[in-house]
Amino acid sequence: MPIDATLPYDPDNIFARILRDEIPSKRVYEDDFAIAFHDINPQAPQHILVIPRGAYVSWDDFSARGSDAEIAGFVRAVGAVARQAGMVEPGYRLLANVGVDGGQEVPHLHVHVFAGRRLGAMLP
Ligand code: IMP
Repeated sequence: MPIDATLPYDPDNIFARILRDEIPSKRVYEDDFAIAFHDINPQAPQHILVIPRGAYVSWDDFSARGSDAEIAGFVRAVGAVARQAGMVEPGYRLLANVGVDGGQEVPHLHVHVFAGRRLGAMLP
């Protein structure tokens, strides 16, 4: 079920629990601002999720309340994940779903990083 991105942050959402290592994940990257791990239901040969360490519901929440340092750190982390995974050539795709119409299921900001095949046109 897609979530209402305007709701308060739920500290027990599944990605918060992954951040606290309360449930396992296949972590591929971490730094002061973000962690990244494999999506449990990959939609491409490579499908990684990057999440900020801070408690933000969505891209909307993060862009409004995140500090400049957190936002810069997160953007750099997303780029570093893709470089580390060898995605830059031949390329990759970033996606962040927001709220009900965006199809967001997990109420902690995450950026999807897809790669490993020609991804084709994005359909609504
Ligand atoms: P959203 O629709 O943008 O919120 O995407 C949520 C993503 O989280 C989906 O691609 C799910 O497959 C993924 N996901 C849900 N639970 C887990 C988990 O426990 N580990 C890794 N990925 C997960």
